[in-house]
Amino acid sequence: MYPDSLEKLIACFRRLPGVGERTAERYALMICDEDEEDVAEFAAALVDVKQKLTHCRICGNLSEGEECGICADEKRNHRQIFVVQSPKDVIAMEKTGEYHGVYHVLNGLISSTKGILPEDLNINELVERAGNAEEVILATSATMDGETTAMYLSRLLQAKCPDVLVTRIAHGLPSGGMLDYADEITLTHALVDRRKV
Ligand SMILES: [Zn+2]
Repeated sequence: MYPDSLEKLIACFRRLPGVGERTAERYALMICDEDEEDVAEFAAALVDVKQKLTHCRICGNLSEGEECGICADEKRNHRQIFVVQSPKDVIAMEKTGEYHGVYHVLNGLISSTKGILPEDLNINELVERAGNAEEVILATSATMDGETTAMYLSRLLQAKCPDVLVTRIAHGLPSGGMLDYADEITLTHALVDRRKV
């Protein structure tokens, strides 16, 4: 056993996705070797992000203010809404530079295996926004949960907002592929080749 404080730090690193015992041990020992100043900066960043970040009240994306920078940008097309599962997908799409509408972040997917229901997600807000939109682009991943969520949303939107065009991004994306792992060219094609649902 390592001293208690070190064991505790190893346990903290183990909570991170993809980090096993050996990696957690390596990270913790690395922290022991760092300057105190650098470690303090690291620790402060962890607390800071928790204290400052909130969800944008319009789109659900991560934001330091009530509204995220994209929702606050008047140059963007606020009548075109690109629906994604997580803030990571917004970053991936923004990197393409090809999309000029706004986003809606569900913060999860409907999942029977994980017990996630539509009411657990940022869906009511999407329906409200869709009433004033021209197009809603469903860009959840090509996984089973992603498809289930897209199907659910397309039916719901067609029932509640029959005037809005609902489209689904093309799946040149690798099956099971997550948006944030797709390269920028693939993502741009997925947007351009979207289809009405
Ligand atoms: Zn926003």
